[in-house]
Amino acid sequence: MAAPKVAVVGAGVIGLSTALCIVETCPSCSVTVLADQFSPNTTSDVAAAMLIPHTCPGTPVHVQKQWFKETFTYLFAISNSAEASEAGIHLISGWQVFKNAPKEELPFWSDVVLGFRPMSKAELQKFPQHRFGQAFTTLKCDCPPYLLWLEKRLKATGVQMYTRKVADLWDLHGEYNVVVNCAGIGAHQLVGDEKLFPVRGQVLKVHAPWVKNFIRDGDGLTYIYPGIQRVTLGGTREKGSWSLSPDPGTTKDIFDRCCSLEPSLRGAQDITVKVGLRPSRQCVRLQKEVLRQGGVKLPVVHNYGHGAGGFSIHRGTAKEAARLVAECIAALQGFSSRAKL
Ligand code: FAD
Repeated sequence: MAAPKVAVVGAGVIGLSTALCIVETCPSCSVTVLADQFSPNTTSDVAAAMLIPHTCPGTPVHVQKQWFKETFTYLFAISNSAEASEAGIHLISGWQVFKNAPKEELPFWSDVVLGFRPMSKAELQKFPQHRFGQAFTTLKCDCPPYLLWLEKRLKATGVQMYTRKVADLWDLHGEYNVVVNCAGIGAHQLVGDEKLFPVRGQVLKVHAPWVKNFIRDGDGLTYIYPGIQRVTLGGTREKGSWSLSPDPGTTKDIFDRCCSLEPSLRGAQDITVKVGLRPSRQCVRLQKEVLRQGGVKLPVVHNYGHGAGGFSIHRGTAKEAARLVAECIAALQGFSSRAKL
């Protein structure tokens, strides 16, 4: 069989990292990324992109922890390299604060991030409305730089990238041997997944270079995440809303909530508003499927539905998707050598 041709649909953090893992796992493959939007116009570009996992009720905790650990280890190595600034990856320390002590004082990811510990009484004085807190150091990806860095790495390995809206995965049959579906919320239409729904998020990106630590309210709704250039202030979680238009009332509400956690933000400048749709479902869809039309087959690997935590687990799920692609190729190669006998 000639070099197997793999199409990855999607150029958000999931599509690009999956394409990279496929190149690393199956170097003999010819990989193409097809997407109707590239950075800076994807959901991934809107994200705060902090490595703090969100629990997926439909996925075993040890699997989520493994995905998170693989992602953390991968990005930690980048943060420790000469490429850190170009890739937009940096370590960041801060606090997660609670009005009441949480049920689970040690989240499953507490031994993956660095230096996780309860906050001291002295530290809690910074947050007079909160009674409990956790301090730790984690990683943050700045987007678009991280997506552009992934694109650059892909191009350097010969991966082709085309702007193309895929109406039906079957349209790729004939051109490609394996198709990988990393369409994010687009999978709702592309494969008719009714279990996939948007959770709308509105955030503000502001200039406030004096804010150096992250602050996250334990309910996950209000957060201040400093990046290399801008600070992301959040947020909202509106289940089922498909609106990409910023809401001015919500902008004011987010700003006021963040200022109550960090009053110095009243001096923030150059405020821009962004909206994204988190591709949410009970669990990430990470599986093989063989589409059939008559006697014709098209192997597909799905990797979408990362909800509110796609950055936190992207490398772990990309590695697993690449392993599934390798299985599809091995099956095709077995079939073609049997056919020759
Ligand atoms: P996307 O980035 O949406 O990419 C999907 C790609 O598929 C795009 O290129 C799109 O054009 C393409 N596509 C779709 N349909 C088609 C089609 N039919 N044909 C061709 N191409 C198609 N996660 C964290 O881990 N930490 C955070 O701090 C964090 N903060 C967030 C804050 C907000 C406000 C939001 C909205 C999300 C946040 N997330 C966070 C979640 C994270 O952004 C998502 O989980 C992640 O970006 C999903 O990536 P994706 O590649 O699956 O989707």
